[in-house]
Amino acid sequence: MTEIDHQRENRHGIRRLDLPLPWELGQVNAYLVPVDDGWTLVDCGMTTPECLSALETQLARERVAWGDIKLLLLTHMHPDHMGLAPKVLELSGAKLAMHRREFALLEETVEAIEQRREPDGALDLARTPAELQTKVIAAFTDVRRSFVRLKPDLLLEGGERLGAAQVVWTPGHSPGHVCLHFDDGSLLTGDHLLENITPNISWMPEEDALGDFIASLERVAALECGTLYPSHGLPFSGHREWAAQTIAHHHERCDEIITALRIHPRTAHELVGILWPRRLSSFHYRFAVYEVLAHLEYLRGLSRTVLEPNSTWTSTAD
Ligand SMILES: [Zn+2]
Ligand SMILES: [Zn+2]
Repeated sequence: MTEIDHQRENRHGIRRLDLPLPWELGQVNAYLVPVDDGWTLVDCGMTTPECLSALETQLARERVAWGDIKLLLLTHMHPDHMGLAPKVLELSGAKLAMHRREFALLEETVEAIEQRREPDGALDLARTPAELQTKVIAAFTDVRRSFVRLKPDLLLEGGERLGAAQVVWTPGHSPGHVCLHFDDGSLLTGDHLLENITPNISWMPEEDALGDFIASLERVAALECGTLYPSHGLPFSGHREWAAQTIAHHHERCDEIITALRIHPRTAHELVGILWPRRLSSFHYRFAVYEVLAHLEYLRGLSRTVLEPNSTWTSTAD
């Protein structure tokens, strides 16, 4: 089915705006959703001149003036989704909505950046060698600049009605990630469901992000959905199959980790080397560490792994 068919098909007049990213991912989608007195803009792209110019051109194409945007809703606080938020809020005078947990995470992140420290200690816990830690932190310098303080007017919990849609809280990729589920079954998925990509899982101290992600996939699978409007790539469908395949993928990865730990205890850094045998860039290494830690934490919640005091992980007999 073509994109045009999808646009005609959706009863609520959702419009996709295709914004460029300077990353491998290539682009991010923002969405315009009509409301009584104007539009809600869902996400807004990154703080680059190219992204702002693409947003301006596409709003003009849709005949939407800045002042017609009444609400900016952020699916989550990643820089490709929220970078332009201060600019959009300034130009439009719109109100800002995001999930309560996401706002708390943004505050913590900005504070850590201002104090020049790592927000969560993931690299120390992984026992990443010091030299590589320096490279990883340097690789994220640009990304960090995109995190800015925001003052939401509306803190979401999940379950709220926003016009023809209901907010669905879907933690996992980020702890306060939200999707929008419309009465006709259309689902704005954010980064929770992406057609050809497995969303990376955030790891946070003392939290079971992968367990949350799997529960969020089950939550979405229980909904009646038609067209899925993702934050990256074209609209697609088949949310239940996608959820089932993604859950199976994470269970396979858990099995790989347990197999490696059965031989002897290992650090998260060592497990990255086993699961990704080819050399990763510093940028991708960081995602890999978070992914491994999220799986180890999930397995710990199931009593299948134990974290030893020296930050090595062991598998329990099962
Ligand atoms: Zn994201
Ligand atoms: Zn994204």
